[in-house]
Amino acid sequence: MSTIPVRVVVDRTACAGHGMCYSVAPSLVECDEQGDPVVLLDPVPDTHRGDADRAVAVCPERALSLAYTAPPPVSEEPLR
Ligand code: SF4
Repeated sequence: MSTIPVRVVVDRTACAGHGMCYSVAPSLVECDEQGDPVVLLDPVPDTHRGDADRAVAVCPERALSLAYTAPPPVSEEPLR
């Protein structure tokens, strides 16, 4: 089953360069020459969704977040 595609969004004003995000998810996030995170896969494929969740969860500055690329599916059930 496929999930709704997500993107990992970096708030560069909040990032303090701890590097924890690219330590826990190196196949999804790497650092540039300034030590700032660079998201490698955009949108995040299903195979890397766990990496995205880990990277967001580990950031002590809350500088990473997930953004959904499409609205959630609408229910097929009739409204009452
Ligand atoms: S863990 Fe958070 S503060 Fe540290 S480099 Fe990654 S985004 Fe920036």
